[in-house]
Amino acid sequence: MTEEKIKKIHFSKERVLNALETGSFRKIICGASNTSEKQVERLSLVYSLCGAEVIDISAYKHIYNAAKRGIIAASEIAGLKPDIYPKFNIPAIMKSLNVGDDKHFKKANFNLTRCISCLECVKTCQSGALSKDSGKSTFESEKCYGCARCVEACQQNAVTMVKVDRNAEEDKPDIGKFDALEIHTGNSSIEEVKRFVDFNKNIMEKANFISVSVDSMRFNSAELLEYVNSVINMFKDKIIVQIDGISMRGGTKNSSTVQTIAAAAVLLDAKVNAYIQLSGGTNHLTSDFVNLAGLKISGIGYGTFAKKIILSYIEDFGDDEFKANLHKIVTVAVKLIEK
Ligand code: SF4
Ligand code: SF4
Repeated sequence: MTEEKIKKIHFSKERVLNALETGSFRKIICGASNTSEKQVERLSLVYSLCGAEVIDISAYKHIYNAAKRGIIAASEIAGLKPDIYPKFNIPAIMKSLNVGDDKHFKKANFNLTRCISCLECVKTCQSGALSKDSGKSTFESEKCYGCARCVEACQQNAVTMVKVDRNAEEDKPDIGKFDALEIHTGNSSIEEVKRFVDFNKNIMEKANFISVSVDSMRFNSAELLEYVNSVINMFKDKIIVQIDGISMRGGTKNSSTVQTIAAAAVLLDAKVNAYIQLSGGTNHLTSDFVNLAGLKISGIGYGTFAKKIILSYIEDFGDDEFKANLHKIVTVAVKLIEK
């Protein structure tokens, strides 16, 4: 990937702001701890062709480059076949930063002395991190995004969640390149968030826009409002509040998505001064439920579900097969985000 190509590819801030104002903002969340270059590159390619406004990634240089490669490939494909991919958009790349103990920044860890190879964990994994090989489960850490389904599935207590290790030199977050930032507040107090924002002021100022992810499951309605308003007051520009329902649980059921919608309703009723974007359990039903409830949200972020509906293509296909089936894959994916 040449520097020249990278420079040519730039998202439109105007389009992002317009999408937020009109409620059509769509973000694809690759995962704050997902370090699979192949997944991120292909997700970025597919969802750029679908018209997503943002690709949300972990804060590593190689993952940023993977997202960029996917976006550039999408741009070239759409340039050659504009009639087939009319929704193509250059998305902004948003890097995820962690204030403290946030569950998005964890990966599974397996204690093989306890494992009895029952394969229950493999059945639950939505990211391809766990697979079956010769009757045993195999684990590819880079594909793990920390959903903890395998922990719940394992009756042998063989799985725990551990914080992503950023100590290795090559794993240090590459804060140098990004279009936008997301701050994951996790279980942090408002004082801890404030300290983080103040400490990283210079980095934040370089972001075209900022999103702050808030876990709605921590609070009752009054507490949620107080916390969100305190966060909003830390920034001079209008921020996106990503209101998380049940994180990393984008299943097919109604119950998957109702938490984030209910939490968003609290914030919208109170007319908080932020763009309210849903996430955490969002799926193919989210948009319809939002419309039924008459909520004027700014947008939706799709993570687990966006990956799940095209995972077999992303994981199983070689490059030639992936390219040959691209239109079919985009047709599946676009149904999710064009609503
Ligand atoms: S189920 Fe979730 S936590 Fe477990 S390996 Fe798969 S992605 Fe990682
Ligand atoms: S569920 Fe637990 S015991 Fe069964 S294969 Fe997975 S780690 Fe091993």
